[in-house]
Amino acid sequence: DKVRVGLVYGGRSGEHEVSLQTALAVMKAFDYTKYEIKPFYITKAGEWRAGTVLLAPPEGLELLRLSGGNATSGTEALMPVFNGLADQAPAISSGTGAINETIDVVFPLLHGTFGEDGTIQGLLEMANIPYVGAGVLASAVGMDKITMKKVFAQEGLPQVIYRHFNRTQWDKDPAFFIMEIEVALGYPCFIKPANLGSSVGISKARNREELIAGVKFALRYDRKVIVEEFVDAREIEVSVLGNDDPRASLPGEITSSSEFYDYKAKYTDGKSEMHIPANIPAETAEAVREMAVRAFLSIDGSGLSRVDFFMRKEDGQLFINEVNTMPGFTPYSMYPLMWRESGVSYAELLDTLIGLAIDRHAQKQ
Ligand code: ADP
Ligand code: MG
Ligand code: MG
Repeated sequence: DKVRVGLVYGGRSGEHEVSLQTALAVMKAFDYTKYEIKPFYITKAGEWRAGTVLLAPPEGLELLRLSGGNATSGTEALMPVFNGLADQAPAISSGTGAINETIDVVFPLLHGTFGEDGTIQGLLEMANIPYVGAGVLASAVGMDKITMKKVFAQEGLPQVIYRHFNRTQWDKDPAFFIMEIEVALGYPCFIKPANLGSSVGISKARNREELIAGVKFALRYDRKVIVEEFVDAREIEVSVLGNDDPRASLPGEITSSSEFYDYKAKYTDGKSEMHIPANIPAETAEAVREMAVRAFLSIDGSGLSRVDFFMRKEDGQLFINEVNTMPGFTPYSMYPLMWRESGVSYAELLDTLIGLAIDRHAQKQ
């Protein structure tokens, strides 16, 4: 019997479009002799739309036919097709019971808020459905840069100096935080909303004026803000795969065209480059792989995570930057490419992740 995989994508986050690209790639890559894919598209307004993949052609890459629509290609096509299926939507939106009977495992391909942050994971826990990737706790910790840093500190992982505050604290006494930041971190510094990804809301400040503007900007996206010391560094990443005994891939490196690895560099201008494996000393590679596994375990990760590091140019010192529990997952994204270089193909990765989801569910019983 085929394994019935519910693919949930789209979602109420700034990373909606990124999720669509990932979903399309995953739909095309699944082996349809082993899996039956049931798509669930979440609109930006948070409404669920259920659909059916009727056909995945052998060549797989150009064409997807979806119920209620014509043969289509391209990411944009997924939205209108599902928008036309509102009447078929109730599977999850009106209660999770229905999905339970028709699906063996859910693959939540959602980035950022309401997806990578533990919310859908909680929904699936309550419905008792196995799902791919991190659980509620790891998702939520991985999404909150402030809490994540506290967990990493407890684990003894090296990090840059930082300060954090919420909107109320800032509004009450901005001068206090400005002084703290100027004394402890200096300029330039990085300002980030605590709960986001894809570099949204992030800015670099070179002076007090830019710091204040950057905090205001970040506060548009979240009520909590973190400000970090700037490090002039190479960006090294490691893919982690597994549950309680995870393994780490060969490290890769991202070099970016823009001043930092911002949203544009990540998704639109295509000028950033991936170097896999990273051209770093063997000891450094060993160190980041070991730290990546520790970071994964420290947040109680499961399934997959991409763990990102800074390697200071000046002296090679390593700092952990973050864990992404639902990293970019197209066949051209860092996570799958680092595994490919480590001997695990994209299709094998999908198989492994589905297996890990089912294992984890079984362990909980
Ligand atoms: P996101 O979760 O949105 O990817 P990151 O914390 O990874 O947020 O920051 C995005 C990018 O900004 C990083 O990939 C890096 O290029 C740059 N960056 C972030 N923090 C720092 C820092 N402290 N020093 C130097 N560059 C940074
Ligand atoms: Mg991130
Ligand atoms: Mg990042």
